[in-house]
Amino acid sequence: MDEATTDLLIIGAGPTGLYSAYYAGFRGLRVALVDSLPELGGQITAMYPEKAILDVAGFPSVKGRDLVEGLVAQAATAKPDYFLERTARGLEHRDDDVVVTLDDGTRIVAGAVLITAGIGKFSPRPLPAGDGWVGRGMEFFVPSFAPYAGKDVVIVGGGDSAFDWAQHLEPMASSVTLVHRRDAFRAHQRTVDAVTDSGVEIITRAQVTALRGDSLLEEVEITVDGEEPQTRPAQALVAALGFIADLGTIQEWGLVTQKRHVVVDSAMRTNLPRVFAAGDITDYPGKVRLIAVGFGEAATAVNNAAVAIDPSAHVFPGHSSEA
Ligand SMILES: Cc1cc2nc3c(=O)[nH]c(=O)nc-3n(C[C@H](O)[C@H](O)[C@H](O)COP(=O)(O)OP(=O)(O)OC[C@H]3O[C@@H](n4cnc5c(N)ncnc54)[C@H](O)[C@@H]3O)c2cc1C
Repeated sequence: MDEATTDLLIIGAGPTGLYSAYYAGFRGLRVALVDSLPELGGQITAMYPEKAILDVAGFPSVKGRDLVEGLVAQAATAKPDYFLERTARGLEHRDDDVVVTLDDGTRIVAGAVLITAGIGKFSPRPLPAGDGWVGRGMEFFVPSFAPYAGKDVVIVGGGDSAFDWAQHLEPMASSVTLVHRRDAFRAHQRTVDAVTDSGVEIITRAQVTALRGDSLLEEVEITVDGEEPQTRPAQALVAALGFIADLGTIQEWGLVTQKRHVVVDSAMRTNLPRVFAAGDITDYPGKVRLIAVGFGEAATAVNNAAVAIDPSAHVFPGHSSEA
């Protein structure tokens, strides 16, 4: 069984975890990150790498992929040890450290643990009619747009991902049809307006009821409530039906949680000694789940964790510009 030792173990390599890693390095701490996904960047990489993000301080507009690239480069200054495609399962407290066990049996001994697990380990919500079609024309995510050029694309869903992808694919695809089972959408109104005004055809109160093709997708059947099914050519279908998030065994660690979020105090401490949390996973009165907020919480969490690891350290790190 592998064993690793570090000062700070970060669970979750989304934007909050990556920025926390940089900060740990700035504090002179050794740092390790674990993530269930094969790539760094959390929700940004998995769900909207091509989206322009407009509300990160200092960037009037930054593509998700570029923000992650910057975070990874910044984190590299801390020389982090990455444990990717591995899920944190167990937590054990010892006298002066904490041991986290991963699903492959690796044990990581750390002076403190920072949970930046976002909404948990997530997997896409399946499209009932799409069983067996993943990789044959159906996907759950759009990590890059180029493969959709010149294709008839059907997007299923009414949330941010569905509308973001419809907006970005419309100029390059042969056609884009967005199918949603309700009249109301959950996406940002500005994106909904932009897509409504574009060449995207929006079909509401409707479902994709069948996918057809020999080996690859050739057409889909769309059924509007109370009407006969209609068939459309489609070489690509994106099922953007949201995802099922699973906090997994983290919920069994004895943390105080509220509606699947970890309750923290103003120092980002959880109720467990040496265990901190930051980013989307945290909860406290007035919590706002945004990247910008996660960055602030990361700095607070790591600076307070530094004191938990070495009680002679100060919470305030000094200014990076003076380093
Ligand atoms: C479509 C969409 C658009 C968005 N647009 C914006 C926007 O414009 N501006 C904005 O501020 N926010 C936006 N958000 C929200 C933003 O993405 C989140 O606030 C942000 O990703 C939270 O970062 P995080 O690092 O806390 O968590 P996450 O990004 O969720 O990362 C958590 C990571 O932890 C990993 N993980 C979970 N459990 C475990 C475990 N047990 N072991 C190992 N790894 C684990 C996950 O695999 C994941 O990689 C958007 C979200 C979506 C879905």
